[in-house]
Amino acid sequence: MALKLFRFFLFLFILSIPLIGNQIAIDKRNFKFDFKNEKEKLYSGVFERGQNIYNLFKRFNISEDIFLKIKDKISKVFNLKSFKEGNKYEIFFKNDNLSHFKYWIDDWYILKVEKKEDEIIAIKEKINYDKKILILKGEIKDNLISAFDLKDINVALDLSEIFSSDIDFWTDLRKGDSFLILIEGFYLNGDFKIFGKILYSEFLNDGKLYKAYYYDGEDAYFDENGKSKMRAFLKTPLNFKRISSSFSSSRYHPILKIYRPHHGIDFVAQRGTPVSAIGDGKVVFAGFKSGYGNFIILKHSNGWESCYGHLLSFGKNIKNGAKVKQGDIIGYVGSTGLATGPHLHYEIRIGGRAINPFKLKIPEGKEIPKEKKDGFFAFKNYIDEYLKNKKFKNKEILEGFKWALK
Ligand SMILES: [Zn+2]
Repeated sequence: MALKLFRFFLFLFILSIPLIGNQIAIDKRNFKFDFKNEKEKLYSGVFERGQNIYNLFKRFNISEDIFLKIKDKISKVFNLKSFKEGNKYEIFFKNDNLSHFKYWIDDWYILKVEKKEDEIIAIKEKINYDKKILILKGEIKDNLISAFDLKDINVALDLSEIFSSDIDFWTDLRKGDSFLILIEGFYLNGDFKIFGKILYSEFLNDGKLYKAYYYDGEDAYFDENGKSKMRAFLKTPLNFKRISSSFSSSRYHPILKIYRPHHGIDFVAQRGTPVSAIGDGKVVFAGFKSGYGNFIILKHSNGWESCYGHLLSFGKNIKNGAKVKQGDIIGYVGSTGLATGPHLHYEIRIGGRAINPFKLKIPEGKEIPKEKKDGFFAFKNYIDEYLKNKKFKNKEILEGFKWALK
C-alpha cells in the first residue's frame, strides 16, 4: 500500500516537472515510468506539421553530436525526408540519456534506433502482427461505401476493384444487393489493427452472383472457373452522373437541330472528371477533330478502337503513338466541339464500324496457368466447403481457418 502511494506521488511529481523546452507537445497520458531500478522515461507523440527529425531531437535536448551519428545510421535504412505528419514516434530515456527512438513508418514497418554506450543501431523492422481470417458481410442500401464502416473504406475500394469488370458500382447497384468477404485481419496484442488482402469475395448484384478467389501463386483474383477477374476492358471509362444520349441510328442533334445517327454513348459528368483508358492500348489519335472537339482514339490489341470526345484536356504524355495501360487517365471531361454541356462522348469501333458499347460482350479474363490449376482449385474447394451452409455474423473471426492458408 505504502509503495502504491509512493508511486502515485512520484507520478504526480514527475507530471509536474516542466517539459524540456516549453513547446514539446507530449500527451501526458502516454508517459510510462518504471521505478524498479533506473529512471526511465518514455515520451510518445506524433510528428506535427513542419516537424522533422532534427527539430524533434532538438526539442528533447539531444546533442548535435549524437544527432549527427543517429542521422547517419538512419539514413542507411530510411529516407530522412520521409517522416510524415501524424505518424507516431517514441523516445525513451534511461537516466536522462537517450536509449531508443521508434518511429511508425506505416502500417507495416517501424524504424528503430537503439543507443548503447557509444554504439548506435538503426533498423527498419516489419511489424509482427498476428494474422486472422475474418468474414465481413453487408447489404447495399444506397451505395457501396455506406455499407462499410468509415474506417474500412479501403476494403470497399478493393472490393469494387475486384468486380470492376462485372459491376459498375455507380450505376449497377440495386437495393438489396449483398456481399460476403473473407479477408486477412492483422492484430497486435489482441487488438485489431488493419485489414490485409481479400482472399475471397462474392457479390450478389441484381440477382446475379459474382465470385472472386484470390490466388497467391498469381497474386490475382479468379472466378469459380479459374478465369482471371482482370478483364481486357473496363465497363465504362469514367464515373458519370447519367447517360444523356445512347447509341442510336437516328437522334435529334441538340445543336445541329437535325436527326442523325449517334454512334456512341454520352456520359454526363462534371467538367474535369478523369477519363480512363478502358484497356491497354496505343494512342492512334489525340487532337482536335471538328464536332468531337478534343478527341482520343485508342487502338487495342484485339483490334477494337475506343474513342473519347469533347475532352477538356488530355492526360499526361497522351499523344500519337503513346502506350497506355487500362485505367490510365487519358483526359478530362469537357465540352469542346459540338456539345451543349460537359460530357464524354464514348465510342467503340470494331473493324472501323461503331458498335454499341453496352451490347458488347467484354472478353473473359485469361485462364489460370495450367500448372497452377490444381493449387487454385484446392484453395477454391476449401473455401466453398468452409462457407457451405453456414450462417455468419456481419463481422466475425473465423477460428481454425488460418491453418489452411499456411
Ligand atoms: Zn455523343
